[in-house]
Amino acid sequence: MLLESLGGLAAMAGLLGLCVGSFLNVVIHRLPKIMEKEWHAQCAELRGEAAPSTEETLSLSTPRSRCPSCGHQITAVENIPLISYLFILRGKCSGCRTPISLRYPVIEAITGLISAYIAWHFGPTLQAAGALALVWALITLAAIDLDTQLLPDSITLPLLWLGLAINLGGTFSDLPSAVIGSMLGYLALWSVFWLFKLATGKEGMGYGDFKLLAALGAWLGWQMLPAIILLSSVVGAIVGITLIVATRHGRNVPIPFGPYLAAAGGIALFWGEKITQTYLGMIG
Ligand SMILES: [Zn+2]
Repeated sequence: MLLESLGGLAAMAGLLGLCVGSFLNVVIHRLPKIMEKEWHAQCAELRGEAAPSTEETLSLSTPRSRCPSCGHQITAVENIPLISYLFILRGKCSGCRTPISLRYPVIEAITGLISAYIAWHFGPTLQAAGALALVWALITLAAIDLDTQLLPDSITLPLLWLGLAINLGGTFSDLPSAVIGSMLGYLALWSVFWLFKLATGKEGMGYGDFKLLAALGAWLGWQMLPAIILLSSVVGAIVGITLIVATRHGRNVPIPFGPYLAAAGGIALFWGEKITQTYLGMIG
């Protein structure tokens, strides 16, 4: 394919990624709040109380985004991904001048860049479409896990089924490898969890981590699991030790594992085969 048209495709995917990143910010911000509200409603129901009054319905689409400090409603011009933050708002709310978290443009930029790279790497293929869906979900999960130490089932489980579905035609892996990958992915971390718990009496990770690795196994096949576990553990250990040493981050403060799994899954998506071949070559 012409390099020129591949560049055009990457640019278009990058722009799409910026807009999707803007939506991911909403999901990252609101989904945990929506889940918390549902839990409160369920608890109230179990206690036989009336459901807590829902003064304002909260969903991914309503209400429109507001400034958390002054309630200023974000206008259309202030809602252009990246551009608004950099040039129109210059990092501050137009109502009250409160600084806006750098997180929003960073998520938009990361989503845009990776989306462009996916189009460049895979070209106009079903693989590219699948990779976009996978990476968008991984970015959302990583950010929610960082914020709340949760990996919502409402993302991890559909991600698992989508991975199996996309491999019906062998897009990233043959179907048997995908099915085995989802089972082994879950079992691998489930075993680590119970060994750790029996040995130390503590819970080192959550069930969401098992489901996320199961989803990655479904997308990429069981062959990628060793590389994903190794990459996430190495990066997790380096960041964890750095945090403990540099910031005296208490050793008992839980460090979410989801972001490392998500990052390792992304690396395996692009370069997994090369990595697997390299270490298989080193073994024998
Ligand atoms: Zn404001």
